[in-house]
Amino acid sequence: MLDLAIVGGNVVTPDKIAPADIGVSGGRIVAVVPPGKLEPSNRTIDAAGMLVLPGAVDPHTHLDAQMHGARSADDFYSGSVAAAAGGVTTIVDYAFQRNGGHLTEAIRNWREKARDRAIIDYGFHVAVLDPSDAALEEVAGVVDRGCPSFKVFMMRRFEARARDFLKLFAMAARCGGLVTIHAEDENIIGFCTQRLIDEGKTGAQYFPDSRPPISEAAAVSRALKMAEVTGAPLYFVHLSSRAPLDEIRRARDAGLTVLAETRPIYLYLTEELLRQPDGVRFVGHPPLRSAADRDAMWEGLADGTIDVVATDHCSWTLKDKRGADTFTRLIPGMANLETLVPMLYSEGVRSGRISIERMVDLVATNPAKIFGLYPRKGVIARGADADLVIFDPHQTVVVHQPEMHSGSDYDPFEGLEVRGWPRVTISRGEVIVEDRKPRAKAGRGRFVPREPFDPGWRHL
Ligand SMILES: [Zn+2]
Repeated sequence: MLDLAIVGGNVVTPDKIAPADIGVSGGRIVAVVPPGKLEPSNRTIDAAGMLVLPGAVDPHTHLDAQMHGARSADDFYSGSVAAAAGGVTTIVDYAFQRNGGHLTEAIRNWREKARDRAIIDYGFHVAVLDPSDAALEEVAGVVDRGCPSFKVFMMRRFEARARDFLKLFAMAARCGGLVTIHAEDENIIGFCTQRLIDEGKTGAQYFPDSRPPISEAAAVSRALKMAEVTGAPLYFVHLSSRAPLDEIRRARDAGLTVLAETRPIYLYLTEELLRQPDGVRFVGHPPLRSAADRDAMWEGLADGTIDVVATDHCSWTLKDKRGADTFTRLIPGMANLETLVPMLYSEGVRSGRISIERMVDLVATNPAKIFGLYPRKGVIARGADADLVIFDPHQTVVVHQPEMHSGSDYDPFEGLEVRGWPRVTISRGEVIVEDRKPRAKAGRGRFVPREPFDPGWRHL
């Protein structure tokens, strides 16, 4: 007897989309068979007219984060409920090293934040702020503990330590670690910021001018040279403009292992919003870009340059966002976990820009493969965790903050009509959200140790 059967749906598996029934036992998928061929089950969900997708894997979140003395609007409970309501069943969050602190301490602290709160499974990258010799010695152990990815910020305190970061790149490469890069050039940002201040232009509307696309291009180009000299594979987070994508295409042609992520806001929103009253609600790092850059992101999704769409979910209240008196003090980030999958379906698949198979690769299969979670996560196949989304391609939802599950008090996509929304989200065989209502206990989510980076991930 199966624990759960999902019958009558159109199932997206690696090789096709076709009608199939899915059998679940012990939290895992035990059968994917033609309709009507499953053994009896304790519970059956009728998925007629629905798409059945693997639960999405968002490898870029910041839950229970702190910045400028404020605490983010989502902890691991509300953040993971928002994720689950949007069809995300695994996140990889960024654990921050304290200045002078141990990398293992960062993981311990973040596991503590998540442990009694998360309703979905989670892992951690370690953001390395101080690449000391002691930190470098910890890299191999951190990979062994199931956290084989690291973050380097090029826009703050990078320049003075660039040589130590080169050592980190080399060490990560040796140990099966993947370095993720926030690519904005510290010096260009510093120069542009000072020039604006000198001209008395300190209002929020000048924020985009302080971090122009060329700062992203310069940082990507520099990081690619650092990858070349160290042999390190690199993963660029939240790319936002055209020039860096061209750099990445050239680097791949030259044989480097380079991966690219973008973020929903760069697919749907443009910089004019930042210059409007209350534009601070859309502030992220990097800033929103031009319509031409937005179009370049879609081209990158369609032609395979971009491997992953991830949220960088980091949510704040309007009070936090409005709290700064100059553009240099604006808090970056916003809520996005609940809208990641439905909006990519609505704006990407339904509008014919990408196929449903490509969407599943971008939000589930590729991040699972890149970050060492595959084939346990990110795919509908026998033996995988039963992390599933029963997705109604016809349900229309108008994004309205009071109905969303983030702890934030605004949604960047407020008022947008989205066609296609998750009906049921299942994690390890358990229904955790049904018709937008959470059904799971805080703390049911588990830490998932991840495998080291495999440079041949595309062929897994
Ligand atoms: Zn981030």
